[in-house]
Amino acid sequence: MFAYQMRVNPSQIRQRIRRLEGSLGALLGQLLDERGALRRGSFVTLHRKCGKATCHCARGSGHPADYLSTRREGRTRLFYLSREIRAQVAEEAGRYRAFRQRRALLAKRMRSLLAGLDELAEALENPEPLGGQKKGKSQGRWRSARSD
Ligand SMILES: [Zn+2]
Repeated sequence: MFAYQMRVNPSQIRQRIRRLEGSLGALLGQLLDERGALRRGSFVTLHRKCGKATCHCARGSGHPADYLSTRREGRTRLFYLSREIRAQVAEEAGRYRAFRQRRALLAKRMRSLLAGLDELAEALENPEPLGGQKKGKSQGRWRSARSD
């Protein structure tokens, strides 16, 4: 009785898995619908001094300039972003970031889905022990099950 009460209701687990399925499908749809170019990296603003002795930056923090920072083969590289390409690169980098975030969320939901299936298997497991049955009775069951 007590052991039965502790078991989780299988239909609740199924409902949870169905909701995950819907969310997984939506995420996968968004990932597959992506048509725009992606660009790996993140934006960095660096302040650099131009070198002119009379410029205000000589005593200040320098002129701000935007760069794209990317890691390839373990090395970080900085690419200067001119005013002409900055907006486009920002868009592509934003798409890349969104893509990776959705993929991470998808992976998380997939792990939940697999955990849910494990829970379902546990909830459906027959709690009756096999060891306690009498030999003659179980053999008789086998025979009748086979002849059916
Ligand atoms: Zn300057």
